[in-house]
Amino acid sequence: MVLLSTAEAAPVTYQQVVELVLRDVETTLGPSARDEAAAFVRLERRLGNVRDDHPEAIVDTLQTYIHDCFIDPTWPSCPLHHTHPLWFGKEDSWWCVMDDVSIAPLGGLAAPRDEAS
Ligand SMILES: [Zn+2]
Repeated sequence: MVLLSTAEAAPVTYQQVVELVLRDVETTLGPSARDEAAAFVRLERRLGNVRDDHPEAIVDTLQTYIHDCFIDPTWPSCPLHHTHPLWFGKEDSWWCVMDDVSIAPLGGLAAPRDEAS
């Protein structure tokens, strides 16, 4: 028998997901990208594209939007490889698919370092 000592994960609401992902956008892309992302999220909500049973879906939707609009075609860039985006998935975290490691929780991405070549 396995008993988890941690508290039950609180249900994540759509609003919490939005706040966390917008934090990641601002950290990595700056305030103007955050404004654009927030406007996109508002539009999605107005169009009714909100899934109460799967609030995390907005992360994928917003990521696709950021890619397709060329705000950043690899957002959020993997800090290990710099060549591919992270994918949002299990444990509500950003993952590097090449190494299958968790990089950061949603809302916890670090600002990109200045690229010294
Ligand atoms: Zn990677």
